Amino acid sequence: MKWLIGFGVLVAALAGAFWYFVLDGAAPARADGVIDLAAYRALVADDAPETLPTEVRIEFVGESNAPSFAAEAGAFGGERTFSYNSFQIVAPGGDTIIDGAVDRETLNQMSEGEGGFSEDAYGRVLGAMTRAERVLITHEHLDHVMAIARHPSPDRIAPHLRLTSPQLQGLPEHAHGGRLPPPIAQVRPSDFRTPQRVAPGVVAVAAPGHSPGTILIYARTAAREYLFIGDIAWVMDSVEHARGRPRFIRWVMPMVDPDRPAVLRQLRALHDLAAAEPALVIVPAHDDPYLRSLVANGALAEEFTAPRPQ
Ligand SMILES: [Zn+2]
Ligand SMILES: [Zn+2]
Repeated sequence: MKWLIGFGVLVAALAGAFWYFVLDGAAPARADGVIDLAAYRALVADDAPETLPTEVRIEFVGESNAPSFAAEAGAFGGERTFSYNSFQIVAPGGDTIIDGAVDRETLNQMSEGEGGFSEDAYGRVLGAMTRAERVLITHEHLDHVMAIARHPSPDRIAPHLRLTSPQLQGLPEHAHGGRLPPPIAQVRPSDFRTPQRVAPGVVAVAAPGHSPGTILIYARTAAREYLFIGDIAWVMDSVEHARGRPRFIRWVMPMVDPDRPAVLRQLRALHDLAAAEPALVIVPAHDDPYLRSLVANGALAEEFTAPRPQ
């Protein structure tokens, strides 16, 4: 009898641990004021229509597969494709680039040689960064920064970088040799702790949680509004289900979600926002099938613009 009780306790403990580390990702029931879309809209409300961005474009630089339960707790739906991307907000007064994707070396490391990489797409990202009016990153993780930390012409992109202190602090480890080229190391930090209008129709605001330097970027064109959420959700299902990553993910990727409660609050806020504002285009960084559906419905255009003839 005694052994049976002991066995029962063990099974309950294992079931509890499985729930805690693998299944539980529930967002809190409320997260009032965590994402203040009205404040972002107000900051660009007076921007003249002819100055607003005209379109948002995407480069699919790399991709790899991972099990869906790693991206969303309890989602046992087989493999998912994750892509590593860069976005271009095209505007009459100059473009804004968001994120620097991966280079081939990083993609190979992340995917253990199993991933796909487009040299052409990465080349277009490197080129667009030299011509852009400003370059932002959603956060400082390796799969968002390589076209910056390892850019072949750091002096040509440094004047355009709009990075926060936590983002700049996270960059050196991604540079070759662990040291940023001096022009990038000397960039003066931007402060997005309160929402800031960074360009006509474009607002950035700090949203730490997934990483210390995570920010949200809001953009409006004549036709649509966008909210770039980086890695707050790896898949849109996370927003739809108000369910975050499983806790075990930090055994594999220790830098992910240092403030997990903050991420879960943001997911609740995004979930409620998506329901209240169905026309808002929420853009997670890696959800490949969802991002391709945004290309199919015209919310994103594929490939960055070519350089204008001199
Ligand atoms: Zn990340
Ligand atoms: Zn990422």
